[in-house]
Amino acid sequence: MAVLGIPILDNLYPVTMDMWPVQAKEFNRIWQFYENLKQGRFTTTKCKDCGKVVYPPRVICPECYSEQLEYVDLPKRGKVIVFSEEVRGVPLGFEAPLIHAVIDLGVEPVRRLLSRIINCPAGYLKEGDEVQLVVFPIPSHPIDKGKQGTVMVDRVFFAFEPVKKP
Ligand SMILES: [Zn+2]
Repeated sequence: MAVLGIPILDNLYPVTMDMWPVQAKEFNRIWQFYENLKQGRFTTTKCKDCGKVVYPPRVICPECYSEQLEYVDLPKRGKVIVFSEEVRGVPLGFEAPLIHAVIDLGVEPVRRLLSRIINCPAGYLKEGDEVQLVVFPIPSHPIDKGKQGTVMVDRVFFAFEPVKKP
């Protein structure tokens, strides 16, 4: 993994700069969300007891406190409500333009989803544009298993991109 501006870290795992969630099920109670992402599914949790759907995924229903939750699929396309575009001074590890958008997926509970927009040049995105889910690999996470050594756990994350290619 190349880290912009820090060539000494090429192909090493810069643990102190890791901004991504540890997704292994041993460490993350919404690991299923990331497993679903790996299969191209965008999901969130639904309460099996009261039916409440919330996004982001939860481990306890905010309505009835049940822990009986299941994952349900969300739309993978939405419309940009509003967005910001950073073209200078983006944080280490990101490339300009760094675009964030509030996206309406058209269904409750995700009429307001904040996501990064990628594969999009500066000045291209407009309010109302259609965007779609993109799943991409992020650096694997090392997990120390003691005498068994270190295993690398594959990880993915998501963003959205314009449906209409620039
Ligand atoms: Zn509930």
